[in-house]
Amino acid sequence: MELNGALAGLAELQKKLYAYQMASGMLSLDAVTVAPKDTAEGRGIAQGVLAGERHKLFSSPEVGELLDFLWDRRDQLDQLRRRQVEELRRSYAQLTRIPADEYMDYAMLVNEADDLWHRAKENSDFELFRPALEKLVAFNIKFAGYYDSAKAPYDALLNEYERGVDMKYLDEFFATLCRRIVPLIHAIGEKRQPDDSFLHRHYPAQAQRKFSDYLMEVLGLDRAHCAISETEHPFTDGFNNKDVRITTNYDENNVHFSMYSVIHEGGHAKYELNVSDDLQYTCLAGGVSMGVHESQSRFFENLIGRSRPFIEAIFPKMREFFPEQLEDVTAEQFYRAVNRAQPSLIRTEADELTYCLHVMVRYEIEKQLIGGTLAVKDIPETWNRLYKEYLGVDVPDDRRGCLQDSHWSGGAFGYFPSYALGSAYGAQMLANMERDIDVWGPVSSGDLSQVSEWLREKVHQYGGLLEPGQVVKNACGQFDPSVFADYLEKKYSELYGL
Ligand code: ZN
Repeated sequence: MELNGALAGLAELQKKLYAYQMASGMLSLDAVTVAPKDTAEGRGIAQGVLAGERHKLFSSPEVGELLDFLWDRRDQLDQLRRRQVEELRRSYAQLTRIPADEYMDYAMLVNEADDLWHRAKENSDFELFRPALEKLVAFNIKFAGYYDSAKAPYDALLNEYERGVDMKYLDEFFATLCRRIVPLIHAIGEKRQPDDSFLHRHYPAQAQRKFSDYLMEVLGLDRAHCAISETEHPFTDGFNNKDVRITTNYDENNVHFSMYSVIHEGGHAKYELNVSDDLQYTCLAGGVSMGVHESQSRFFENLIGRSRPFIEAIFPKMREFFPEQLEDVTAEQFYRAVNRAQPSLIRTEADELTYCLHVMVRYEIEKQLIGGTLAVKDIPETWNRLYKEYLGVDVPDDRRGCLQDSHWSGGAFGYFPSYALGSAYGAQMLANMERDIDVWGPVSSGDLSQVSEWLREKVHQYGGLLEPGQVVKNACGQFDPSVFADYLEKKYSELYGL
């Protein structure tokens, strides 16, 4: 093998992996957007073949040899190629370390667990899901050993979602937030809540669709490269930097639901669209980690989207879409309504202030589950106890308790903390941005271009070229969760007159 030939092989391998990913992603997107109801069978067969072929391609000994050959000559590679080889070797090692039969068993288990979880949630019956969840936990503890046997199992899993993050880091992170947020929540509990009844008037889906188009325009999302469709749960699919899809869901009695989901997914989309061209169709395309991705979505959703200047800027236009519903409402009333902070049961509906406590409950449970100090059968009881302790709410049933999220049924343990980290990264990015540029002048006239450009330069363009920790450092400096706590304290003290 000579170097040029190996580099051509490297590019070809990544293009093939991209093609499998795109094909499989398109099928999944089709399934939840436009496919007729009873068409899963044919897609399932195609998905199975695609997954098998992708696995065969990537786990072959020739790929291992190619990556080793290039790694031995990494001094002769440019940064781009070196990073590609480094990332691919990491994935290759992980994939080939899991025995093929376990990999297959696990894939089947996840498939089965998803169905069980859906039914268990529907009937609020944890027992129905328990046996599958026990197996999922056991698999993940085992896989953690394959990922990195030198680490505690939960640390190894955390590292898969946010490289460099471990329990020590998160314990401190959550302790800081808890110390600052809990007293705020208690203080707010004593205050009168703003009226938000107008958010629940009747907002026809058709008008909301037009409003979404307007929001995407304000966000600067080029509709020639970013489409929007409707699904039960909103999400973003970034196929490449010229083809990103977001989805939303219209609830005619909750106008803010689709509004903030469009802004949230729009933040994810902006990230994907701004990754630089030379990373496309390689393993470095797309966002670098869950936490950094979430920092971008929550940046637009909360730090910008729930700010007073932004709401003042878009409110006159919003009233054109909903003249009757908002006839007697001012921008200031709207601002207060969408920032109402109140402990609740459901994470995805939580406000900006209490959100992290929902994540903390899940973190505590996962830590003990994977660490072997909590049995699956004791999850409901622990969940309900922690909700009472952190949020002061009583959980009436498991549907609105430990069965509410889909993550565990998909085998994702260690994923939740990235949501809270993302919120904290975002707040620190904003603090730095405010030092660099005039953020609020342009935003108050509905112009997000400078904000976007700052994020493009510091975060988006790099895709996976830098380690997540490096990207965070670029945009945040030394990460300090108290910056996020300061932000929350200032915002909510003003809102509630604390
Ligand atoms: Zn998100």
